[in-house]
Amino acid sequence: MPETTLENPQISAPIPGQAEDSPAWAALVRPQRLKSWSSDLVAIVDGQAEDLFTDWSFRPGALTRHDFGHILRKISGCGSVLELRAAVDHSTGDVGAPVLHAANFCGQHTICPFCAGRVQDRRLAKWEKPIKWAAQKFRFAYMITATTAPAETWRADIDGLRDAWRGFYLKGQKRIAGRSPGEWGKVKAGIAKMEIKRGEDSHLPHCHYHALVFTDEMLNYEIWSKEERAKWPDEKDAHKREPNFKIPWPVTPADSRGWRAGSKLSHEWSEATGFTAMGFRVDPIRWKPEHKREGVSFAESVYYQSIEVLKYSTKFDSSPATGAEKLFARDFIGIKDATYNRRLFHTYGFFHRDARKAINEVCPFLLDEDDFTGGGPQIYDGPLIYESRWRDRKYSELESRSKPVFKGQERTLTGQFRRTMLNRVQGKFRRMRTAIVESKKIFAESGDLVHAAYMQIDYDAPLDGHGRLVQRPAEINFPAYVLENPEDFSNWERWIDSLSESFKVAYQALQDFFSMDSETRFEDQFRAADAARYWEDRSKGYQDEVIRAFLEVLNSPEGCARSAAPS
Ligand SMILES: [Zn+2]
Repeated sequence: MPETTLENPQISAPIPGQAEDSPAWAALVRPQRLKSWSSDLVAIVDGQAEDLFTDWSFRPGALTRHDFGHILRKISGCGSVLELRAAVDHSTGDVGAPVLHAANFCGQHTICPFCAGRVQDRRLAKWEKPIKWAAQKFRFAYMITATTAPAETWRADIDGLRDAWRGFYLKGQKRIAGRSPGEWGKVKAGIAKMEIKRGEDSHLPHCHYHALVFTDEMLNYEIWSKEERAKWPDEKDAHKREPNFKIPWPVTPADSRGWRAGSKLSHEWSEATGFTAMGFRVDPIRWKPEHKREGVSFAESVYYQSIEVLKYSTKFDSSPATGAEKLFARDFIGIKDATYNRRLFHTYGFFHRDARKAINEVCPFLLDEDDFTGGGPQIYDGPLIYESRWRDRKYSELESRSKPVFKGQERTLTGQFRRTMLNRVQGKFRRMRTAIVESKKIFAESGDLVHAAYMQIDYDAPLDGHGRLVQRPAEINFPAYVLENPEDFSNWERWIDSLSESFKVAYQALQDFFSMDSETRFEDQFRAADAARYWEDRSKGYQDEVIRAFLEVLNSPEGCARSAAPS
């Protein structure tokens, strides 16, 4: 396989049609860079399509080859349409600079540079205030970097690191009486992010965690006591000092001790990795002298120093100079496979929002966050709206629009109702799909064929018109080809693909059904019986389970659907 690597294209020329100092150019320069980068990536992965699945099997994962093809198509279309908005001062008529408000994002932020860039921008904006708040509220701030030993595959590396990280912070978890004695118990607020890259020396998948934590007590990261340091003050004699902790380590010809010197904190990390790794670094964050001189406040200084935690997860091209860390096309399959349905960004303590928590246990700047808002002014502020499209590797000049480019941003009752119904059908599909993947997992681990079971949600509407959700267990029958040869995992892959295919066709038909009806017609027509007939007509030849599932969802009485939409 050719070792084509990804370059990070730098924008060298102004975008045609826009003066380099124009506000529109400023708004497009970053999307232009990210989209060029993303296009290069798609071209490289596409060019190596035949080799991508050479060593791949459906056995451990949840995504099929068909899914990856779909994901790649989504990435290739990502960011091809942009909606920009400019604020208008309605008393003076002044128009502000246009900003990117929305785009057709693909949402694959671990492997799409365009979406990764968006996630990073949002995180930088969202976490600035909470980090500055915590820097003033708590006494100490630290940056932590934790790694495990490199692994042969992305899945082994990412799973191993995630498990170790969980084991590490659980050493300081809350218990009924007090806390476990782990150092993490001191953490009052924190964020952690997994960074995905290849190791510089090993060239193997070698991911790590970056964390920013705030505490009121100092973290115990001292390797030697004051007394030991006083006894052997010269760093040359460090090996003679008695460490606070001895971390078990294999005996080597060069080192026959069988341990390495560690602190309480690095010992806890090493223990969480099963004593296979000790890559652990703690750096206290202090007020940088140059920041102090330049009048940058302590809180701001902490924020600037913590930006590493907010940057995007995948190092698409982390070290062009050496070429060693670059990711290859096949990596994008491995990374997506291993990160599917996985969170790579975690929050703790005052930075963690949880419905069960009291308001005074959450940072006030995280309470009223609205994930829905785009980058620009809202419609009720009467902004100017523009559209730009990706053509010939550049964004077109901004064109004025009288309405938002992307529908579904507006929150109307009809829109809500349509979304509720579509989400239900989609939810059903997801549960069925997960059930098959789980059944496959059980077979892979134990050799037992256990029916794919999931919780079926029925929509029960009593006479008062207020719907209720009723859950009951349901099973999906095995197709004959799986029963005949379950050892061949491509049969399980085929099962998932056929479910997805019938779902897609049916979902598209459902969207068409919604878009062709006005609300009035919709209310008249959209009764359970009609819906059932509608689906029977259109679902001939679809897989039985999908038909059944769709009918169950669509047969839910009107009152139920209505009550799901806020009035
Ligand atoms: Zn994307």
